[in-house]
Amino acid sequence: MAIKSVTTISLGLPYEVFGPKPVFAGRTRTHMEMLLVKVETSSGVVGWGEAFPLVVGPLVKCAVETIIAPLVIGKSEDDYQTLIDDVRRKLFLFSRGGPLAYAISGLDIALWDIAGKKAGRPISNLLGGAKRKRLRGYASLMKYAESEVLASNCRRALDKGYKTIKIHDHRGVEQSAVAREVIGDDIGLMIDVSCSWDLAQTLAYLPRFEELKLKMIEEPLWPPENLQDLRILRSKSRIPIAIGENASSGADIANIAESKAVDVVQPSVIKIGGISEIMGIVKRVEASEAKMLLHTAYFGPGLLATLHIASTLDGEPEIEDYFCEIPANPLDRKSVV
Ligand SMILES: [Mg+2]
Repeated sequence: MAIKSVTTISLGLPYEVFGPKPVFAGRTRTHMEMLLVKVETSSGVVGWGEAFPLVVGPLVKCAVETIIAPLVIGKSEDDYQTLIDDVRRKLFLFSRGGPLAYAISGLDIALWDIAGKKAGRPISNLLGGAKRKRLRGYASLMKYAESEVLASNCRRALDKGYKTIKIHDHRGVEQSAVAREVIGDDIGLMIDVSCSWDLAQTLAYLPRFEELKLKMIEEPLWPPENLQDLRILRSKSRIPIAIGENASSGADIANIAESKAVDVVQPSVIKIGGISEIMGIVKRVEASEAKMLLHTAYFGPGLLATLHIASTLDGEPEIEDYFCEIPANPLDRKSVV
């Protein structure tokens, strides 16, 4: 049997964030983008993958259809790990991250889906077996310009039963204080800074964050791979420090975990190269001091792939649940989250 076609479907899904739509990468996020990668075999098996679509979606779609597809059409889907490795080796000199890696991620997830369907087994089973049937989610609140919207969404997350909330904000400590005021002391609170600060700024905020009992600070420093300053920050912080959603390969994640510069690594299955790339470094991360907390700010097959991976990991892997409502999501999230 062989791969017959590799195509994409771009979706712009209406969503509700219970306030003004957030700005992302300089533009208002009017819809929630989703880029599906569909792989069909000559025997009619269809696998679905998902590639990171934000802003660069047209580039990723082009990469899947014009660069990746010609490399794999006609090849056997059975030895999918060798096939993915071959694609990565053929393309590595053109960039190991960004749109090409996102495109490979979508292909990889779709090939795992096909492997699971052909074997009649869940992907988690192919990965060594699920250690749990349920995973706890945390509410990953989007970036809000106004404190009132943050407060009302914190209340909404509490009403839905979340025990941990993450806010996205880079303006300082005020929004964390707003959130803590609303959620009280028993709910976990984390902040995602999206690589906006330098070391001095972050150190200045640290005492207040410690007063507010933050559970994690995510991507505090620019640039993301600034391990030297992250190591200094970690040495002075009682709050765990996390990075990794923008790492370009599993090897990068493993190297970060072993660098002792952070407490938590966050590979993103639809950015980094898919399931294969993450599973390839699980043992190295487990042997390090760092914990793995998968980045999952998406809603399609990438979320499902993350759930399968997380179900096989040690510890209590929490799932990032991007906090908005998407009524027309083709994936019925009620059935999985
Ligand atoms: Mg993040």
